[in-house]
Amino acid sequence: MTARIIDGKAFSAKVRAEVATGVAALKASHGITPGLAVVLVGEDPASQVYVRNKGKQTVEAGMASFEHKRDTSITEDELLALIDELNADPAVHGILCQLPLPTHIDEARVINAITPEKDVDGFHISNVGRIATGQDAMVPCTPLGCLMMLRDHHGSLSGMNAVVVGRSNIVGKPMAQLLLRDSCTVTIAHSRTTNLAEVCREADILVAAVGRPEMIPGDWVKPGATVIDVGINRLDNPPGSEKPTRLVGDVHFESAAAVAGAITPVPGGVGPMTIACLLANTLVSCCRANGADAPSGLTA
Ligand code: NDP
Repeated sequence: MTARIIDGKAFSAKVRAEVATGVAALKASHGITPGLAVVLVGEDPASQVYVRNKGKQTVEAGMASFEHKRDTSITEDELLALIDELNADPAVHGILCQLPLPTHIDEARVINAITPEKDVDGFHISNVGRIATGQDAMVPCTPLGCLMMLRDHHGSLSGMNAVVVGRSNIVGKPMAQLLLRDSCTVTIAHSRTTNLAEVCREADILVAAVGRPEMIPGDWVKPGATVIDVGINRLDNPPGSEKPTRLVGDVHFESAAAVAGAITPVPGGVGPMTIACLLANTLVSCCRANGADAPSGLTA
């Protein structure tokens, strides 16, 4: 079997176009422009690239983008005061605080200071609880992107066996909650799981969110399964290669693609969906704040 490649680049472009249409409709019906504020503390080059891309795609979708860059010397109280300002700003419908924050700042305290309705990253404790109890919530962007791709591929996920490898608060746990909400039978695996290979072989849907390059080989994949590879790992190329490094996922792509029914590549799978879902969450937040209907395909 050769798996169908789930093209996250193409799918994310579709989601961003849907967001842009929703933004235009909201402007026409309510005269409101959704706004996303991104807070970046420090000079981390990777974070700067992410923030730049987010800003660019926010504007391309017709939304307002507000960037708040601060030096690493900012105190926790000063950062909390900035979050308070953004919470109160009616032009801001989504607030994202780029992680990681410097070690002298309590990340959980900052995240939980964001108004839950504006918490477009979906990390606020109230959103975590709302997802777990099946209420409308801001859903973390990466798991939301995975869910959208799965729904697009399968239609209904009801009754499927889903295995999520990884139990982080930002990917593994919310992914498992979303799959449960869609009536999958869900197993969460982690570093202490025994017989991981056997657990994975039971999966109709296998989500890998570990951060270990190519650790899941093709013979852990059930024939015909759908494999969602969240991992992003940078490996060195052999000397003399055209590029010094390459990105790989947590799944060994070639061997898994020979067995799976469908698979997301790395790069070009889950990654591009994350920013698209951030834009979707900002639009949804703005719609909810203004009593407008959010486009149904953009929510969990
Ligand atoms: P974390 O490091 O927070 O969590 C990793 C999880 O993997 C943990 O639950 C850990 O288990 C588990 N794990 C580690 N080793 C093993 C093992 N040998 N067998 C089984 N489970 C194991 O990572 P994140 O969830 O933040 O990210 C996971 C990956 O996804 C990374 O590669 C990251 O770069 C990528 N990512 C991609 C995004 C995207 O936009 N595409 C967004 C966010 C993340 P335990 O809890 O027991 O330690």
